[in-house]
Amino acid sequence: MDWARQINVKNPAEIALMREAGRVNALALAAVRELIEPGVTTADLNAAAEEVLRKHGAYSPFYHYGRPPFPASICASVNEELVHGIPGNRKLKEGDIISVDCGAVVEGYVGDASFTAGIGELSSTARKLLEVTEKALYIAIEKMRVGNHTGDVSAAIQQFVEGRGFHVTREYTGHGVGRQMHEGPQVPNYGKPGTGVPLEAGMTIALEPMVLVGTHRTRVLPNRWTVVSADGSLTAHFEHSIAVTEGEPLILTVL
Ligand code: MG
Ligand code: MG
Repeated sequence: MDWARQINVKNPAEIALMREAGRVNALALAAVRELIEPGVTTADLNAAAEEVLRKHGAYSPFYHYGRPPFPASICASVNEELVHGIPGNRKLKEGDIISVDCGAVVEGYVGDASFTAGIGELSSTARKLLEVTEKALYIAIEKMRVGNHTGDVSAAIQQFVEGRGFHVTREYTGHGVGRQMHEGPQVPNYGKPGTGVPLEAGMTIALEPMVLVGTHRTRVLPNRWTVVSADGSLTAHFEHSIAVTEGEPLILTVL
């Protein structure tokens, strides 16, 4: 990926459009969440998200993204699949965890968010993994303030996750978001405080802790999309798109 990407600071009108894209994205994710139960396929989840997007005149920026073109509107990543799982006829079963990542484009602006959920009774490791990964996202959001650098956000994620015995991915990162799904700056899930890009009001960034139980190393399946933990251990992923303001960080991808 080319990360000499431009940082596009948004004006209030653009932030309002991004908030609407984020709201529609949250509706799609909520519809998916309601369906998650044993026996449901990941293709069913994709169809549910697409229906909500269509109803709101939106579409997913994931569809036909990249090479080979991504064939669906959500990423559905089960258990050891960290990100970029391709929806299909896999049925969810008791004890699985699934990350659902969805995007929505509304009037040319992108919302990007994900959650990970468990199906039925989970192992204690899976439960802890979900808690730690989601908490890491909110700790990162708290750091999205003028006066901080992107490295403060990255370091907060890494310190929290590693402090609880888990690992953060190195190859996949948070990113600016706006008219493009991926803009600058890049916000890795590891880093040093005080480094990187100074945060400015109007910056819009998708933060996305990606956490692995056994190793930070990953590999990509032969479908050239699905990223799995190198050791087959469980993984989780939570994401919100955030606007930096003069005050509190604004979460764009909520209802
Ligand atoms: Mg995403
Ligand atoms: Mg993203």
